[in-house]
Amino acid sequence: MSKSVLVLTAHPDDETLWCGGLLLSNQDWEKTIFSFTRKSDRDRCPKFFRAVKEYGANGIIDDLDDGVSQKPLNYSLYKNSILNNLKKKDYDLIITHSIFGEYSSHLRHEEVSLATLILIYDEIIKTKELWFFNYTDDKKKNDPYSREDSDLLLSLSDEVFDKKKRILLDVYGFSKDSWEAKIIPKREGFKIKKTFFMKG
Ligand SMILES: [Zn+2]
Repeated sequence: MSKSVLVLTAHPDDETLWCGGLLLSNQDWEKTIFSFTRKSDRDRCPKFFRAVKEYGANGIIDDLDDGVSQKPLNYSLYKNSILNNLKKKDYDLIITHSIFGEYSSHLRHEEVSLATLILIYDEIIKTKELWFFNYTDDKKKNDPYSREDSDLLLSLSDEVFDKKKRILLDVYGFSKDSWEAKIIPKREGFKIKKTFFMKG
């Protein structure tokens, strides 16, 4: 039986930036990539499905607000998004954002992480393991990089890194001078959680 893996992200491209190498390195995983935003984005939505194909994954995308003002969203919106869009609820591994985000700062990243924890606590989704992206930009002093305190540090081979970068540039269409192309990590970092506080 292959490992069933759910990646929960705020945006199309987060899967590539923060765990693209991990996904490319585990072809045998049964992968679902879920983006909470940008379904109605006529540019990024189709790119998401092309990227997901590169990972051999099943893609799901929803349309929660992602406006520039980043007004906080209620947990119920995330909960309903999962209930309405995700058929399979039980996984071997869920991978998501850090509750502190990956850089300073994007509220949706932090919300997705917190929502994932509550979804697990609420038994809306189940998993044996939960991995968080583990990056920092040292409060904007540096480009985001994988933190030394990661439980898993994955240094990508040139081959895997090239493929990850190609998805960012060729599929998502970021220019070589873009922030994304500049910071795309060659070493990916994850914090791993295997035990959960249960209800009751
Ligand atoms: Zn994002």
